[in-house]
Amino acid sequence: MNTAEEIKSNLDSVEKRIASACERAGRNREDISLIAVSKTNPVEAVVTALGFGQKAFGENRVQELCEKDDYIKQNGITVPEWHLIGHLQTNKVKNVIGRVDMIHSVDSLKLAGIIDKESKNKGLITKILLEVNIASEESKFGVLPQDAVDLAMSIAELKNVKLCGLMTVAPITENPESNRPYFRKMRELSVDIASKNKDNISMNVLSMGMTGDFEVAIEEGATHVRVGTGIFGKRDYTNKEGLI
Ligand SMILES: *Cc1c(COP(=O)(O)O)cnc(C)c1O
Repeated sequence: MNTAEEIKSNLDSVEKRIASACERAGRNREDISLIAVSKTNPVEAVVTALGFGQKAFGENRVQELCEKDDYIKQNGITVPEWHLIGHLQTNKVKNVIGRVDMIHSVDSLKLAGIIDKESKNKGLITKILLEVNIASEESKFGVLPQDAVDLAMSIAELKNVKLCGLMTVAPITENPESNRPYFRKMRELSVDIASKNKDNISMNVLSMGMTGDFEVAIEEGATHVRVGTGIFGKRDYTNKEGLI
C-alpha cells in the first residue's frame, strides 16, 4: 500500500492528467468524476484519500465494500460515495442496496430484476449502469454490444432501478490508443440507446477508463473514470483475508 504522501501526490497527478485530457477534448473538468478504486487496499487507504478530498470510491467485491463501509460508519468518518464496479452475484444483491451510490456491473435482466426487487423492499430506487463487453472478449463479463439496446429496453420497465448509462472494462493493453475505438463505440452505443427516448433511461453516465487508459477514455466521452493503481499503488492479492 502507498503511504499517505504517495496517495496525495498520485491524486494530484491524476487530477492534472484529467484536467489536461479535458482541455484537449474541450470538456469541463466538472463533467468527469474520479472514482478511486480501493479494492484490495486496507480501509486506511480509503480514509487517507477521503482526508485529501476524494469522495467517490470503487470496490469490486461486495464483502470488502461492506467491511470498509461498516468500519467508516462505526468510526464516525464521513461515508464516501461507494460504487460497486465488479461482478455482482444475485445472492449478494441485498447486502449492497442502500449502501452503494451506483452499481456499474449490471449485465443481465435477471440481475437487474433482483436489484429492482430488493430496492423496492427497501423503498429505494437504485442507480445502475449496463456493463458492456465492448471488445466481445471471452473472459469478460458484460452484455455483448449487439445485445445492449434490447437489454436496456427491458431494464427500463423496472420501476425501482434507474438505468443511468453504460460501463465497460476495456481490454488490457500497453498502448492506451488501442482502446480508443472501443471507447468511441461505447459512446455511440450510449447515443443509440438514448435515441430510443425511453422513460426511465438516461444515458448521462459513461464509466470507462482505468489507470492505463483514462485520458483516452475522457477524450472519447467518459464521465466516470475508475483509477486504482494510479492512486493506491500496485495491488497485493496475497493477503485477501483480513482486509481491514
Ligand atoms: C480494478 C478495477 C479498476 C481499476 O484498475 P486500475 O488499472 O488499477 O486503475 C477499474 N475498474 C474495474 C471494474 C476494476 O475491477
